[in-house]
Amino acid sequence: MADYQKMWDEVLSIIEKNVTEKTYTETISPAKKVHSFEENCFNIVVPSAFNKSRLEKFFYETILEVISEHLKNPYDVKFILAEEIHNDISPKEVESKPYRRAVKKVYSFNNYVVGNFNRFAYTTSLKVAEQPGIVANPLYIFGGVGLGKTHLMHAIGNYILDSSKDAKVLYIKTEKFIEKFVNSIRNKDKSLFSDSFKDIDILLIDDIQFLSKGEESQLEFFKIFEELHNKNKQIVVTSDRKPNELKNMMDRLTSRFEWGVLVDISVPDYENRIEIVKKKIQAEKIDFKSVNEDVIKYIAKIFSNNVRELESALRRVLFYSTMLNEECTLKLAKESLKSILPEKDIKAVNYKDILENVSSYYKISTDDILSKSRKKYLITPRYISMYLMSELLSLTLKEIGSIFNRDHTSVMHGIKTIKLDLKVDKDLQKAIETLKVFDFNS
Ligand code: ADP
Ligand code: MG
Repeated sequence: MADYQKMWDEVLSIIEKNVTEKTYTETISPAKKVHSFEENCFNIVVPSAFNKSRLEKFFYETILEVISEHLKNPYDVKFILAEEIHNDISPKEVESKPYRRAVKKVYSFNNYVVGNFNRFAYTTSLKVAEQPGIVANPLYIFGGVGLGKTHLMHAIGNYILDSSKDAKVLYIKTEKFIEKFVNSIRNKDKSLFSDSFKDIDILLIDDIQFLSKGEESQLEFFKIFEELHNKNKQIVVTSDRKPNELKNMMDRLTSRFEWGVLVDISVPDYENRIEIVKKKIQAEKIDFKSVNEDVIKYIAKIFSNNVRELESALRRVLFYSTMLNEECTLKLAKESLKSILPEKDIKAVNYKDILENVSSYYKISTDDILSKSRKKYLITPRYISMYLMSELLSLTLKEIGSIFNRDHTSVMHGIKTIKLDLKVDKDLQKAIETLKVFDFNS
C-alpha cells in the first residue's frame, strides 16, 4: 500500500520552500496529518475552523498544483476538523448535514472576492462564522442590489455547517417569512409557525427591508428575534439600507439591529471586477486563459454597477462562445453583449473615439489619420484605426472604407497588415492592448 503520509509530508516540504516561515508554521504545518485517503483524495486533519478556511481560501490551488506536479497524480485534498474525527465521524458523513435549511452550498467564503469595497463585511462575517453568537449579534449587512449580501450570508451558513456538525442553520428570505406567517394565521396554526424557529442556532434573514409591509409580521419577527438573541443564537440580517433608514419599521426592531455590528458593502472597483470575472470563469470550470484577457477587461469596464450584472454578462458571453463553438474573443463578446449594453456605453465608443484614441497615442491629428498622405509614420496608425473599427465596432469593410474615403480593398489590406504584424511586433501588440481599452466611465 502506498504511504500516503509520506506523500503528504513531501507535498508540505515543497510548499515550505515557497512560503514564509510564519505562513508555514501558522497555516501550513498544522495540517500535517493524513486522516485517510479515499477516492483519490487526501483527507487532512486540521486543528481549527480558522485554519481550515485559511488553507481552503489561500492554499487549496497551490496544494493541488504541487500534488499533481510531484506526486504525478491529480489527487484532491479535503481538510477535516480534528474535533470531527474525535467524534468518530467519517469525512463523508460530515458532508451530509442534517439541518441545512435553504442554505445554498455554492456560496462560500472561498469563492467570494474580497477588496476594499467589502473587506470589513467579509472579515466580520468570517469572524461571526467562526464564533457564532459571540462577536457580532446581530450582524447587519447592508448595501445595494447585486453586491454580494446574500452570498456572504450563505457563506456564513455554510461555514458554520462545515465546522460544527449539528448546528441548526436556517436561511429565509423576508418575503417568505411574511408569507409563511400570513398563511399560519389563515390556517390557525400560528404557534406551529413560531415553534419552527425555536430550536434554531443560526437565523439568516435576507432583505429585511421588505418587513416594512406588515405590522403584525414585524411583531412576530421581533418576538423570534428576542428569543433567539436571549439564547445567544446568532442572527444575521441583510438589507438594502441602514437600520435607521428603514421605512415603516418599528423602532424596537431598528434599535435591535443597531445593537450588533453594521457592515456595508459598496461597489467593487475595476481591479476587483476583473478578479471577480476571473473567479467566476474558474467556477465555470473553464480555463480563463482560454477567455481572452481583453474580454475580461471589457466586461469589467462596462458592467461597473454591480456584481450580478457583471456575472450575467460573463455568462452570456460564455454561452455565445459555446453555442457558436467559437473562441471567446473581444469581437464575440461585443456581439453577444450588444443588446444588453448599458445605454451610455453603446454611445460611448464610436469611430471618432477610436480616431481620437489612436491620434493621441501616436501624437498626430485625426486629420492626419484620415488623410491620403502616404507618409510612413501615418500608415500604422491609420491601419490600426481600421483594425480597431472592425474589431471593436464590428463595422464592415465598406463602412470603414467610407470613413477613410477609400475602397474596401484598401481597408482589407490595412486590417490584414495589422493582423500579420501583431503576431511578431511587440510594440504593436502593446499599442493595440492599450488602445482597445476605453475608459467607459469618463
Ligand atoms: P445581493 O444579495 O447583495 O443583491 P448577491 O449576494 O445575490 O447580491 O450577489 C449577486 C451575484 O454576485 C451572486 O451570484 C454572487 O455570487 C455574486 N457576487 C457578489 N459579490 C461577490 C464577490 N465579492 N465575489 C464573488 N461573487 C460575488
Ligand atoms: Mg440578496
